[in-house]
Amino acid sequence: MTVKDNVQLQPYNSFHTKALAKLFCEPQSVEELSEIVRAFPDEKKLVLGSGFNSFFTKEFDGLVIKPAIRGMHLLWETDQFVEIEAGAAEDWDQFVAYCVEQGYAGIENLSLIPSSVGASPVQNIGAYGTEAKDVITKVKTVSLQTGDYHEFSNAECQFGYRDSIFKQTGDYVITSVVFRLEKSFQYKEKYIDLSRELEGIPTPTLTQVREAIIRIRNRKLPDHRILPNAGSFFKNPFLTEEEKDQLQQKLPDVPIYNAGEGQFKTSAAFLIDKAGYKGKRHGMVGTYTHHSLIIVNYGTENGQEIVDFMHKVQQEVQKQFDILLEPEVRIY
Ligand SMILES: Cc1cc2nc3c(=O)[nH]c(=O)nc-3n(C[C@H](O)[C@H](O)[C@H](O)COP(=O)(O)OP(=O)(O)OC[C@H]3O[C@@H](n4cnc5c(N)ncnc54)[C@H](O)[C@@H]3O)c2cc1C
Repeated sequence: MTVKDNVQLQPYNSFHTKALAKLFCEPQSVEELSEIVRAFPDEKKLVLGSGFNSFFTKEFDGLVIKPAIRGMHLLWETDQFVEIEAGAAEDWDQFVAYCVEQGYAGIENLSLIPSSVGASPVQNIGAYGTEAKDVITKVKTVSLQTGDYHEFSNAECQFGYRDSIFKQTGDYVITSVVFRLEKSFQYKEKYIDLSRELEGIPTPTLTQVREAIIRIRNRKLPDHRILPNAGSFFKNPFLTEEEKDQLQQKLPDVPIYNAGEGQFKTSAAFLIDKAGYKGKRHGMVGTYTHHSLIIVNYGTENGQEIVDFMHKVQQEVQKQFDILLEPEVRIY
């Protein structure tokens, strides 16, 4: 069991903000993780994956747990399906690449999402009409309260849009995830941008779909290694019918999507653009020129500067459109 003191978290978050963790560990197995949790019952705990959706504004006065549990193995297969278990510390895109190479379908639309496998159920990662919840059958965890092992079925994960029981409670460390994938593949149109990218290919293969997604994402999103960012900074807001009508009076061309049960969804990026924050920069922080939903760090090590910029965007959108944008990114 190795637990280090005063570890700098700057290399472990994609905004590269500086903060010290009082205690830091990288458990290699479920047993080591349980042992550490039980050895520090009174410490505040924070679980970190690859840090692509998190940044730090101040010292963390507790224990940071970054699971280092690896491995990908086939659990069973039939003519139609396979179940594969992958360790929390596996890189998400390498896992997708491996599945596509094997001809296993179901997660190709989630290519190039920067994530660890362990974080994929936390916010139920999604893109191009697919969400992790569509293929997850089991999530294996250790309780942060007791150090006990606990398995969650898909239904028990309480998945929602960018949501799950793991995000809601913060009570579990995910150690591995089990995915059920299909052994045959037939491209179904789910997302217009993707279909356009595949134009001219009558029956796209799994590899062609993955390559198309990678091309689209590389065109649209900043490379976090060059321009530190955490992807979409804000969630797309949900609106009631009344809120939708009020917004349409102010912005007749605002995109509105039906979200079911009398709810509507709009585009946070559109609102940020209209509020005058497209490609706007204050000091070392700004919105990405090609995509206003992404806040980029042009050179600060101070997470508070990112929070200050976030508040400016929120205040302007709220002042003009009476909508409070909620951050999707985890701020510690
Ligand atoms: C350029 C870019 C593009 C992106 N595009 C998308 C996209 O298309 N779709 C999408 O859904 N997201 C997207 N994101 C967000 C990001 O990819 C996801 O949030 C991803 O799951 C973060 O993974 P991580 O391992 O870096 O998590 P971290 O940032 O390390 O952690 C995120 C949250 O998960 C928790 N967590 C992490 N690991 C575990 C674990 N093992 N057990 C329990 N809790 C854990 C943490 O406590 C934290 O609350 C993007 C991010 C970037 C930088």
